[in-house]
Amino acid sequence: STKAETFEFQVEARQLLQLMIHSIYSNKDVFLRELISNASDALDKLRLEKLRGTELRADTSDLHIAIEADRDRRTLTVRDNGIGMTHEEVVDLIGTIAKSGTAKLLQELKEAKDSAASQDLIGQFGVGFYSGFMVADKVTLVTRHATQTSGTRWESDGQGTYTIETVEDAPQGTAVTLHLKPEDAEDRLFDYTSDHKIREIVKRYSDFITWPIRMATGKKAADSSEAAGAEKSGDGGESPDSAANADSAPGAETLNSMKALWARSREEVSDDEYHEFYKHISHDWNDPLETIRMQAEGTFEYQALLFIPSVAPPDLFLRERKRGVQLYVKRVFIMDDCEDLMPEYLRFVKGVVDAQDLSLNVSRETLQQDRQIQLMRRRLVKKLLATVKDMMSGDAERYATFWKQFGRAVKEGLLDDFENRDAILEICSFASTHDAEKPVTLRQYIDRMKDGQQHIYYMTGESRTVIENSPHMEAFRAKGYEVLLLTDPIDEMWVGSVPEFDGKAFQSIAKGQVDLDTEEEKKEVEAERERLQKEFGDLLSWMTTALGEKVKEVRLSSRLTTSPACIVGDTYDMTPALENMFRAMGQ
Ligand code: ADP
Ligand code: MG
Repeated sequence: STKAETFEFQVEARQLLQLMIHSIYSNKDVFLRELISNASDALDKLRLEKLRGTELRADTSDLHIAIEADRDRRTLTVRDNGIGMTHEEVVDLIGTIAKSGTAKLLQELKEAKDSAASQDLIGQFGVGFYSGFMVADKVTLVTRHATQTSGTRWESDGQGTYTIETVEDAPQGTAVTLHLKPEDAEDRLFDYTSDHKIREIVKRYSDFITWPIRMATGKKAADSSEAAGAEKSGDGGESPDSAANADSAPGAETLNSMKALWARSREEVSDDEYHEFYKHISHDWNDPLETIRMQAEGTFEYQALLFIPSVAPPDLFLRERKRGVQLYVKRVFIMDDCEDLMPEYLRFVKGVVDAQDLSLNVSRETLQQDRQIQLMRRRLVKKLLATVKDMMSGDAERYATFWKQFGRAVKEGLLDDFENRDAILEICSFASTHDAEKPVTLRQYIDRMKDGQQHIYYMTGESRTVIENSPHMEAFRAKGYEVLLLTDPIDEMWVGSVPEFDGKAFQSIAKGQVDLDTEEEKKEVEAERERLQKEFGDLLSWMTTALGEKVKEVRLSSRLTTSPACIVGDTYDMTPALENMFRAMGQ
C-alpha cells in the first residue's frame, strides 16, 4: 500500500461530526442500523450491476453482511461483500456532505434551544455513516469497488482530518471498523461487543434486511482494519475477514429473518418494524406519519409499502430532488427514485413497489412506456389521496401535520394532475376569514356558505395581514361572507386554472365584477349606481384622463365601505403577485 495522505473534512462535514462525537442523539444504538443499511444498499447495487451484465471482479454467490466484534481490542466491524467504493467515491461520499439543505439545517441546529429540538433536526437529517462517531473515537473503512483491483483505506478520529491510502489486496466490498470509545467501556448499555447486544439491535432495527446479517460467534474475530490487507488469520479454519467465507465458518449465526416486509401480511408486522423499514429506505430518523400497504393479486400482481414522512425534507422544493419510491421486481431491487411510479407533486412519498410481472431488465427508459407501471402509478396515487382524506376525518391533528409539511407540494398537483383534481381539492385546506387559527377545507367552506352565495371567494396575497387589510375585503366582511386567504406562491398558479369545486366556482374578490347582492338589492343598487355615475360623471372622466396609461378605466365602486378607492384587476388580468413572479423569472 501507498503512503497515507491526510485530507480535511469539508466544513459542514466537520460540524456534523462534532455533533455526532458529542452525541446529541439520545439513542446511540442506531449507528448499527445505519451501517447495516449502507451495507444492504451496497449489496443491492452489486446484484443490480451483475444483472445488467457489467463486468465485475466480484463473487456474487454469497452476498451478505457480517458483523465481527472483538472484545479485547474493543472494535466492531460491519462488513459487506457488495459494490464497494472507488477512491473518488470515498472522498466524495464520506469526506463531504453534498446533501442539499445541509448548511441551513446546521444553522438551525446551532440555534436550537433545547436538546429535543436538536434531536428532531438531526433525525430529519439522518446522518448515516457519521453516526458511527457516536460510539467510536476512530473509524476505519476499507473498501474496494467491484470493478477494480485495488482498494482504499480511509481512517479518521472525526476531529477534522482523515487519511486515505491505496490498499492493493482489499477484499470485495466494504468493511467499517469502529474503535469503540474507551469511556463507554464500563457501561453495559453501550457494550457493542456483546453478542447479546448485537443480536438485540439487529433484531430490533434491521430484521427485514433481505440479505443475511451474520455474526461470527464462539471465536474471536480479527481486527479487520488491520487484516484488510493481510488475508491470513491466526486461529485456523476460515479467514474471518473474508466475508465470502463467513457462511461456512463454524458458529456463524444469521441474526435477521430476511423476510421482505412488504410481502408479509399486515397482522404479522408490528408498527415498529414498519417504522424501522421506513428509516432504512428513507434515510430519515423520524417515524413516518402514515404507513400504507397495498396488495394487488391476479393477472397483474404487485405489492406496495408506502410511507408519508412526518417532516418535510429540507430540499422538498429544490429542483434536483428525486421521488422516493423504490422499484423491486420479484424481490430484486431495480432502482431508487422511480419517477414513473409517483407524480412530482407526491415526491415526498417514500416506499417500495414490488412488481411480479415486470422484466428484471426494465430501465428508466422502458418504464415510461410500460402500461403496468402507468396502471400502478394511478392506483398508488388514488390510494394516497384516499388515505389523506381518511386522515382528515379520522385524525384531524395528523392531517394538520401532513398539510403543514406537504400542502404546498400537494397543491402543485392541481396544475398537473387533471384526473385527480377533485380528489386533491378535497384534501386541501386554506387559511380563511372564518378562523384566524385553523385552516378550512373547501367542504367546510361550502357547508357554511350563506344563502344565495354562489361562489367560493378568495383573495391571493403576500400574507394574511396584507389580505385582511385590503380594501377589497370590506364588502365581504360587511356581508359576512367567508373569504379564503391564499398566501402561497403556488396558489396564484392553480387558482387561475381550477374552475370550480363541487359546482361552485372560485371567484377572486380582487378581480372583475363581484356579485354580492340578491336580485332586488341588485336593482336598487343599479339605480343608485346610475344616479351616482351621472353625478360623478365629470369627475370620473377627468380622473381617467389624468391617470392616462396607468389605468383602463375609473369606475364608481359598490364594494368599498370605508376606503376611498381601490385598484381592481380585470377578470383575466394577472394578479400583482403573479406579475412579480413572472418578472422574477425573466418573462
Ligand atoms: P446515505 O446512506 O443516506 O446516502 P450515508 O452517510 O449512510 O448516507 O452514506 C453515504 C454514502 O456512502 C452512501 O450513499 C454510499 O454511496 C456510500 N457508502 C456508505 N457505506 C457504504 C458501503 N458499505 N458500501 C458502499 N458504499 C457505501
Ligand atoms: Mg446510509
